Amino acid sequence: MEFIYRQPVELHFGCGKLQQLDFLLQKLDGIGMLICTPHFVKNNVAEKLMQKHKKIGCIFSNISANPDIDEVEECCAQIRAQQVTFLIVMGGGSAMDLAKVAGTVALTDEPVEKYFGTGIALPSQHLPLIAIPTTAGTGSEVTNVAVLSSRKTGKKAPISSDNFYPSIALIDPELTFSVPPKITAASGMDVLCHALESFWSIHHQPISDALALAACKLVFSSLLNCYDYCEDKDARVSMSEASLLAGLAFAQSKTTAPHACSYPLTNIYGIAHGEACALTITFFAHINADERLQQFAKELGFADVKAMCDKIETMKEHMGMRTDLKDFDISEDQLNDLICLSHHPNLANNPIFIDDTMLENLYRSLI
Ligand code: NAD
Repeated sequence: MEFIYRQPVELHFGCGKLQQLDFLLQKLDGIGMLICTPHFVKNNVAEKLMQKHKKIGCIFSNISANPDIDEVEECCAQIRAQQVTFLIVMGGGSAMDLAKVAGTVALTDEPVEKYFGTGIALPSQHLPLIAIPTTAGTGSEVTNVAVLSSRKTGKKAPISSDNFYPSIALIDPELTFSVPPKITAASGMDVLCHALESFWSIHHQPISDALALAACKLVFSSLLNCYDYCEDKDARVSMSEASLLAGLAFAQSKTTAPHACSYPLTNIYGIAHGEACALTITFFAHINADERLQQFAKELGFADVKAMCDKIETMKEHMGMRTDLKDFDISEDQLNDLICLSHHPNLANNPIFIDDTMLENLYRSLI
């Protein structure tokens, strides 16, 4: 057996860890920009952080869910104008992904479009980044991937670069207590998809497998409690831990078919990222149900993969998540578009080759 495990991000995890920001900022010179999700501007947390930490010179918060390349461009312009020397990002995957890309592109004279979906490698120079996730979640704080969208072209796609690894990830589960139930459900299912997909990915390896198993255990024991009782501290801490572990897992092994299908589902039908991944996860679990996955399901306490899938579907229903696409009245042409646009590179990480007939069966079962 041969494998590589690479993880350059320094991790600080625990309730109240946000208080350590002062200590972490001492290591950084110059002026910092706080990039945060609008929620933390509305509740004044961003302003208070800026007052407390004099090194934070400005705030950027024009970030939508599935950040647009124009928003990254706007952030880059502000970084250049304010001569910012480091970034702190506090938010979900959308804010973190925007910050990761802006931290490199702002140091160039080039537009983001040059690098988005073109395969052109980013230059290696980038601003130091402290990532503070506030959803549990994407695991973006430990990956070298950022997912952006272009409303102009209708494209949503990941860009990856080793520049995107934050220098430090500060994971304070208390920051997730305010996440509303619908977003708790979608981001929590994203964690489950990361862990399952990491486990069955063709790039899986022993360390990512162990992380994926631990993450799945935490999701199955805690996600519904987070959804039902948003201030259940133990459940929130467990989901933050699960998000981190699943992020560390798929950072090695990459995601697979459910993530490939999620991009058009989000782009065309506006379905939240985690909900879009969860929509197809059990279909692919059944397809990928080899002996290894059966054993994984047993280690999670299920009789088999089918029992695990039944539990996932029950959880989705309990949390009011989408289980089909019936309300979109999808036409034959739209079905063909979905099939075509699901051919994202992540599809090739699936252990079973996914052909158009399988994709057609999947989408026909949902419409
Ligand atoms: P998000 O960042 O889009 O946030 C969803 C909503 O929750 C936003 O309105 C945000 O303002 C709000 N929010 C965030 N934290 C909050 C808090 N503590 N309290 C109240 N509201 C809060 O959601 P997400 O699921 O974290 O991120 C999804 C994005 O991340 C998608 O674009 C997805 O493609 C991407 N993603 C990236 C990676 C990666 O490795 N880079 C992995 C998975 C997903």
